[in-house]
Amino acid sequence: MAAPLVDSFGRVHRDLRISVTDRCNFRCTYCMPAEGLEWVPRHDLLTFEEIARVARIMVERYGVDGIRLTGGEPTVRANLPVLVKMLSELGTDLALTTNGVSLPLLAAELHAAGLRRVNVSCDSLRPERFAELTRRDGLTRVLEGIDAAVAAGFDPVKVNCVVMRGVNDDEIADFVDFGRSRGVEVRFIEFMPLDADGIWNNDLVVPVDEILAGVNRACPVAPVERTSAPATRYRFADGSGSVGIVASVSDSFCSTCDRVRLTADGQFRNCLFAVTETDVRALLRSGAGDDEIAAAVGESVASKWAGHQINRVHFVRPRRSMSQIGG
Ligand code: SAM
Ligand code: SF4
Repeated sequence: MAAPLVDSFGRVHRDLRISVTDRCNFRCTYCMPAEGLEWVPRHDLLTFEEIARVARIMVERYGVDGIRLTGGEPTVRANLPVLVKMLSELGTDLALTTNGVSLPLLAAELHAAGLRRVNVSCDSLRPERFAELTRRDGLTRVLEGIDAAVAAGFDPVKVNCVVMRGVNDDEIADFVDFGRSRGVEVRFIEFMPLDADGIWNNDLVVPVDEILAGVNRACPVAPVERTSAPATRYRFADGSGSVGIVASVSDSFCSTCDRVRLTADGQFRNCLFAVTETDVRALLRSGAGDDEIAAAVGESVASKWAGHQINRVHFVRPRRSMSQIGG
């Protein structure tokens, strides 16, 4: 019988996010600098076998029941479907967060390998703005990727949109229409201080109330009962679909957080905003047994803080940015 992975505040952690690479074929302004970042050397990346071993320990020892692959851009890691197949054998819910650009090629293969849910990031439906935001001319391909995911049978397909004041906050209604017409759930996300360029400031954050007002203007919604998921979900009053808002800054969901993270270079993090990490790669490569690895993970979670301190005097920005941590 698996023991739960509990911290000192009684929060049980069942959701493991695995970054499979820190590399990316986009350079989103709110995430990465134009010139990219210094990539982790290949031999420092966990192998598929190492990733699968950590995941198995988390499932067997701690009852982790949800795994999400992320990055960087997970689809730039060669042979991703092979890893999906290995992880699908653990029997957990298995999901992917991607910029979508490779989905026209990969969606069917990933689904066949056992992936069931996919989130595609898209922050503008206007080609020129999309190109400015991602520093790549890729909107058509991303929209094809969303269609390919739906056609391959992923359920649900969600679209992540980071809302930034004066950048794309005039597109909330367009995204509502887009989600409803394509049968996908759009999740609006508040901009977090995890960009590599340090452009974040609170004036750029469009808080949940404002996003919700924009959604309601486009189409009235009613709240759906809250779960441990970070998004507050709303159902359209006319019954055709739903929308989510991730109020990571203005109304943080830390008190119900059930997530832990493994970076592409094998560092275990108990919080997106953690300033310390546990070196699981060193354990894996020094012959540590499952007990030792499970104990290190357990200790990290036991010491998890109550929540991030964004906009408070105590807030310390993590050394690594979103694409290096795994969003
Ligand atoms: N490359 C994939 C993608 O873009 O979906 C996966 C990695 S990306 C880091 C994961 C998620 O983090 C994306 O939905 C992205 O929009 C979001 N993200 C990146 N930087 C962010 C920031 N500073 N604030 C809020 N969300 C951010
Ligand atoms: Fe790449 Fe995703 Fe970051 Fe954009 S948000 S630069 S697609 S990792």
